[in-house]
Amino acid sequence: MADGGSQTGSSNTDANEKLRQLPPVHAIVEQLMQHDGIQSVPQQVVTDAARRIVEQYRSAVLSGEPGGIEIPSLEQLVEEATRIIDAAERFPLQPVINATGIVIHTGLGRAPLAENAAQAVVDAARHYVPVELNMTTGERGQRSDLVRELLQHLTGAESAVVVNNNTAALVLVLSALAQDRNVIVSRGELIEIGGSFRLPDIIQAGGAILREVGTTNKTKLADFEQAIDDHAAAIIKIHSSNYRIEGFTESASIVSLVQLGQKCGLPVIHDIGSGLLKPALDHAMLLDEPDATSSIAAGVDLVLFSGDKLLGGPQAGIIVGKRQYIECIEKHPLMRAMRVDKLTLAALIATLRLHRNERASAEIPVLQFAYQSVDQLKQRAQSIADRLSGVEGIKKVCCEPTSAYLGGGSVPTQEIHSVAVVIQTRSKTVDELAEILRQSDPPIIARIRQDSLWLDLRTVFPTQDNFMPDAIIRACSSSQS
Ligand SMILES: *Cc1c(COP(=O)(O)O)cnc(C)c1O
Repeated sequence: MADGGSQTGSSNTDANEKLRQLPPVHAIVEQLMQHDGIQSVPQQVVTDAARRIVEQYRSAVLSGEPGGIEIPSLEQLVEEATRIIDAAERFPLQPVINATGIVIHTGLGRAPLAENAAQAVVDAARHYVPVELNMTTGERGQRSDLVRELLQHLTGAESAVVVNNNTAALVLVLSALAQDRNVIVSRGELIEIGGSFRLPDIIQAGGAILREVGTTNKTKLADFEQAIDDHAAAIIKIHSSNYRIEGFTESASIVSLVQLGQKCGLPVIHDIGSGLLKPALDHAMLLDEPDATSSIAAGVDLVLFSGDKLLGGPQAGIIVGKRQYIECIEKHPLMRAMRVDKLTLAALIATLRLHRNERASAEIPVLQFAYQSVDQLKQRAQSIADRLSGVEGIKKVCCEPTSAYLGGGSVPTQEIHSVAVVIQTRSKTVDELAEILRQSDPPIIARIRQDSLWLDLRTVFPTQDNFMPDAIIRACSSSQS
């Protein structure tokens, strides 16, 4: 600082005076321990909170303008420490209301489970369950046996195996079938799917060698044919609907790749991404989405997909296909590193049974959300808006048509018509309002657009509707900002 000596001297005195007003940590702790809710909190957490508050004011005084910082009373410091303790003690994975309109929201854990599946997880968690015990013979069984039959029935595949996620499935398949050899992929399908999923890196991690063919917009069957030599181990097709190449384009069909694979004795692998089991003929938004049953029927050797995208189950990677390849995958040493636990198995079996029993679209949340009619959403939005209109502190509230998204990496840009309640308040900026809603109980995650808060109802359970106007009314009257 370029201040003169006398001023520095006086600000030092000033600062020392302020620091003397700061109560010691133990005084704050003593007060805190009188509070009912805090007696059950570990001493360390309480002390840390008190220390943080004292430290915060100490460094503010030492770095701030002289006279700029007022030291609060002991009661106020205790109050602030209580807030820190509350935040630290809140369970970090408490359920939130997803009002973003993104159905498969990676940041919010992708697919919420169906009630049946959630109950199956709780039961399996609490008890011993026969994960690897054949209950008829009493002998050791295989954990994949439990889901194999369901997946055979649902996709028409000869066999199946389950791992922790679809990325693991891809790495495992390549390690088992293409170690140190070439996998042939169209240049139009060398995709990145958000986060750290980049196909060329995954192929490398699987120990295989990427053999790209064709161009970004056009790959012909002849391109694949020319790439087949003694080093070739597999042909892979990957669903890339998170972007679209339009115009002058060409790609080799699954059927033609299968024929080529059979002619040359190479397995054809199809990563379909989102886990649609059958063609979704009734739903226009899913018409371009590949499905496992059609790929298997076309003769694909292995079809790979996620358990927690459109399948609506737990995070898992599902591999269905020819018995000889599945057996080879199950024998690979990495299988042990990627196998699923009993909780995932329980949730997956329960979810697959809903699909088998044709109860999926009625009971699986991601499908309920995706298929819900706009008319129903309009009614729900209107009743929320009605509760907020005329409320003191609300500057604007209305219902607007909007676009929700399937999301989740493989279908992120697929828009679905939706309806949102659009809100502005008088005393809070839209960012402040969004923050208050994130801190409310239950937390509400909304979208910010055009200086307003948008609550998209497509991804909200109808039983959660009432929480939203309540939280907003509380936000309007709160002094917190
Ligand atoms: C989402 C996706 C993956 C990755 O699946 P995870 O289950 O998230 O590991 C792989 N391939 C495609 C085509 C996908 O859409």
